[in-house]
Amino acid sequence: DPRDALAPYIISPSTHPPSIILKQTPTSVFIRDAFPKALVHVLLLPRDPEKTLLHPFEAFKDEEFLARVRTDAGELKELVARELRRKICGGGKAAGGEGVDWEAEVKVGVHAGPSMNHLHVHVISREGFSDRVKKRVHYNSFNTAFFVPLEELPLRNDDPRWEHHERARLLKMDYTCWRCGRGFGNSFVGIKQHVAEEFVEWKKALIEA
Ligand code: 5GP
Repeated sequence: DPRDALAPYIISPSTHPPSIILKQTPTSVFIRDAFPKALVHVLLLPRDPEKTLLHPFEAFKDEEFLARVRTDAGELKELVARELRRKICGGGKAAGGEGVDWEAEVKVGVHAGPSMNHLHVHVISREGFSDRVKKRVHYNSFNTAFFVPLEELPLRNDDPRWEHHERARLLKMDYTCWRCGRGFGNSFVGIKQHVAEEFVEWKKALIEA
């Protein structure tokens, strides 16, 4: 089942190259997303065998478990923020970016309806600029309430995102720019073009900060 493709990273992390496995902690494996939907896009895979096949909303009802994952996610967010800074400002001494809160440019959360079976948390830069964004779900799953920040968990019992029809509705929503809020209706070409323009502006603002 292609939906089980994240399993080997948890079962035998050491058999994968360091270009994919960023780090292992006693509780998590950090990997690069194979189809990054932004400049930096990595996944945190909790190793707990009791949780790995649960839906994230179920898994994160356990507050102790959630607290452990939050700790690891905080560490991964720092790594991602550092990589993002390098990608935008370059390395070296005069690289810049000191005045920027780089972690504020990074989102940490789960999809309300994951496509992969093994529990994972996305840690992703928020600009969403990637040629892997090829269809509606690729954009909307990160830029609507379908993306559930770890801080919003555990999900309240009355949250509509427990329902499949609400998840489907979010994925089908009209396109809205993550940065300026402008609407693009049903036009995938329109939002893609606009996200590319915003990418330039976003980068410029970060470099100049
Ligand atoms: P979901 O929608 O289930 O929350 O996201 C699953 C993520 O796993 C997607 O961002 C997708 O690009 C990524 N992915 C799918 N297959 C593989 C794989 O074989 N290896 C890695 N590293 N990532 C994958």
